[in-house]
Amino acid sequence: MMAKQKTQSLKVIIAVILVCIFLITFSGIFLFMNFKEEQFVGAINEDIDMSQSVLIISIDAFRHDYFECAEAPNLKGMSDQIHIQKLIPPFPSKTFVSHYSQITGLYPAWSGIVANTMYDSEQNLTFSIGSSSSQESFWWWGEPFWISNQREGHLSGTVFWVASEVGIYGRNESPTYPTYYLSYDRDVTYKARIDQFFDWLDLPEAIRPNFYTLYFESVDDMGHMYGPCSKEVTEAIEDVDNWIGYLIRGLEARGLWKAPNGLNVIVDSDHGMTKTSKDKVIIIDDYIQIETSLIHCAHMEHLHLYPSLKDDFRYNDLDCQKRNSQLFHDDSRQNKKRFQKNLNQNSPSQDYEAQVVNFSPVTQIIPAEGKEEQVYQKLVNASQNWTVYKKEDVPSKYHYSWEGNSRIKPIIIVLDLGWSISDRAYYEKYPDNFNGGNHGYANDHDDMAGFFVASGPAFVQENNSIEKLENLEIYQILQKIVGLKNPAPNNGTMKNVESLFQ
Ligand code: AMP
Ligand code: ZN
Ligand code: ZN
Repeated sequence: MMAKQKTQSLKVIIAVILVCIFLITFSGIFLFMNFKEEQFVGAINEDIDMSQSVLIISIDAFRHDYFECAEAPNLKGMSDQIHIQKLIPPFPSKTFVSHYSQITGLYPAWSGIVANTMYDSEQNLTFSIGSSSSQESFWWWGEPFWISNQREGHLSGTVFWVASEVGIYGRNESPTYPTYYLSYDRDVTYKARIDQFFDWLDLPEAIRPNFYTLYFESVDDMGHMYGPCSKEVTEAIEDVDNWIGYLIRGLEARGLWKAPNGLNVIVDSDHGMTKTSKDKVIIIDDYIQIETSLIHCAHMEHLHLYPSLKDDFRYNDLDCQKRNSQLFHDDSRQNKKRFQKNLNQNSPSQDYEAQVVNFSPVTQIIPAEGKEEQVYQKLVNASQNWTVYKKEDVPSKYHYSWEGNSRIKPIIIVLDLGWSISDRAYYEKYPDNFNGGNHGYANDHDDMAGFFVASGPAFVQENNSIEKLENLEIYQILQKIVGLKNPAPNNGTMKNVESLFQ
């Protein structure tokens, strides 16, 4: 009898447990579905009008012909509306130079960002990407679009764009940032970046931006490491395209994709990519005697490509940064004196012929005083695979010889496509770093051209007829979409982009 009772109460307990499990699971599924609905559907607002708003997405180093080496159905879908075959980067075709040119509408000589690594002789300061020095407003001339936009009472939200975390003056009296921005961090997942954009998009109208940016770097990373159209680049393109799909679905769910009141979306790239190899490297100290105090900064450009180098360069990096930031952050007289003393200690020895600012397809050389002609003569015919210019002789098509810009140095070396430059010590230590891909060459090589696709109500139904557009015209395109009344002075021409619009 007792045993029977025990079995029965056991059955009851099991039944209760099963019911509980069922209820918990069911309510979990229900909550999850609701959460999904809320994320995608709950945000639909019939009254929302984003037809004068724009999101610009930069896929770093997406070469103009990458549609041929990867499946990218979402980007291809966008190209059905607007596709500019070749978006021409500025000279030189580097990431910082190009992004800042696009967003200010200025050629680099006037935007201030003439290379990824720069040396300002007047201030005796070095700029290198990712270093604290690059955050100083004095480097950044012109006015980024977000400032122009905010000057007219609008708001901006940037999930990464070169300069978006720097306080920049533009035409304002104090340094200005985008209304909402994130500091660049390559470890933030693509999903988190896009979700951040959606969070801003879902804000109430009074505090919602009309201008947004997103940035993806993996196609550039893989291009440098494995070369254009390698398996790794193809995979990176397909991955980014999937995330563009995620973005489109989120916009669709909000009624903002391919709708009269929808958001305008531009996807472009800052430059292309070409194959490089360790057999095509010019060793500059075979021809002239170079001074090394700037060299550690000059090699910084390799760091983001080859993180394994960080240990070797960490101290130099710190040193490079310290020299740059002291002038700005140390107010006391004593510190200024100390800084001056450091500078003097760092000052070059007398017997060198030139300093190299950056090892890049467009290389800046500072000849030692009185040795300008000697250095030029030694370099000009030293290699079949470069062209050496005095600053004043750089062809006008590159817009790179403005004497008012002292960051453009007296001698400019322009490498032939696919060639690299190094000093012997670095080359011998890391020869394999020269296998893979690079950009930064003159902007008239097809391999350096980026791409542009767009979709949204501000654009005409279809325009695939513009074959080439200089990317500084992006400022005009953004200006046109948001209806900017008082744009900053720039090098663009509205006529060049008018055919894109209704
Ligand atoms: P490069 O290929 O040398 O022209 O530079 C590309 C690198 O720039 C990418 O790998 C990014 O990590 C880096 N980068 C892009 N945007 C930013 C940013 N806003 N701040 C710092 N680094 C950036
Ligand atoms: Zn880039
Ligand atoms: Zn790159």
